[in-house]
Amino acid sequence: MLAVDLHTHSTRSDGTLAPADLVLRAQQRGVQVLALTDHDDLSGIAEAREAGIELGVHVLPGVEVSVTWHGATLHVLGLGIDPQAHGIVAGLAGVRAGRLERARAIAARLEDAGVVAPLEGALRLAAGGGMVGRVHFARLLVERGLVRDTSAAFRRYLGEGKSGHVRHRWPGLDVAVGWIRDAGGVAVLAHPARYGLRTARMRALLEEFRALGGEAVEVVTGNHTTDEQGMYARLAGAVGLCASAGSDFHGPGESWWDVGQLPDLPAGCEPVWHGQPGWVSARA
Ligand code: AMP
Ligand code: MN
Ligand code: MN
Ligand code: MN
Repeated sequence: MLAVDLHTHSTRSDGTLAPADLVLRAQQRGVQVLALTDHDDLSGIAEAREAGIELGVHVLPGVEVSVTWHGATLHVLGLGIDPQAHGIVAGLAGVRAGRLERARAIAARLEDAGVVAPLEGALRLAAGGGMVGRVHFARLLVERGLVRDTSAAFRRYLGEGKSGHVRHRWPGLDVAVGWIRDAGGVAVLAHPARYGLRTARMRALLEEFRALGGEAVEVVTGNHTTDEQGMYARLAGAVGLCASAGSDFHGPGESWWDVGQLPDLPAGCEPVWHGQPGWVSARA
């Protein structure tokens, strides 16, 4: 088992635990290095770091940036960023404004599908943070009894091609990696198996990502099977990228894996934290 978890969410995006409660849970589960990586939002970092100092968990400031790459939506993690760096702070403010516009469009579609006052409902459920996302709509649909759980909400309403789905243009891969690097962070491609790309296209993505300054691929994640872990370990090595590991924990009962429940990286991987002695030695 690893004592690091480099991908987690709090109430500042679409997780269900406040940042300090997330750090407490991580500490109780033996995590020594934890990255808080809320979607397109940095507002939980200060609270998480304070809790980390108190509890003896090294909290890495992080983010999960939404990206559009040749029509596909990708997620890029920024680890060890300076949450005050101007470029990323201003850039993510723009992404969150775009999320609000998208939420209005999603709400209009859901209203056409017979859902009453969806925007108000989603914004109420998003009130713990600065960003509104599809998960807030999913939780509203559950609350209203229209679906049984959030994954049914994605299947029936919010997923690609469904009545409440809206195409959205996120920042480009080059832009997102630029924000992360300019903020002193390490860029990691999150959960690659989720994108449904064929091997040749995935390889092209990884090569482009590396050329832009990306440093690692998330090999171990709750979204990957053991076979996928092995496949992305090999691909990362072939392209010269390091390997990362994170649960993508969103809250108790909301995720495949709990925080800090990570198996070791497959043999032969170059762990992204090996090149970052400060991530480990800075812990209490
Ligand atoms: P957004 O960035 O607002 O489009 O929302 C993406 C988030 O929705 C992901 O980070 C997951 O938390 C969640 N999500 C995506 N697909 C599903 C699914 N099929 N079931 C449950 N949650 C999902
Ligand atoms: Mn999420
Ligand atoms: Mn993601
Ligand atoms: Mn995530």
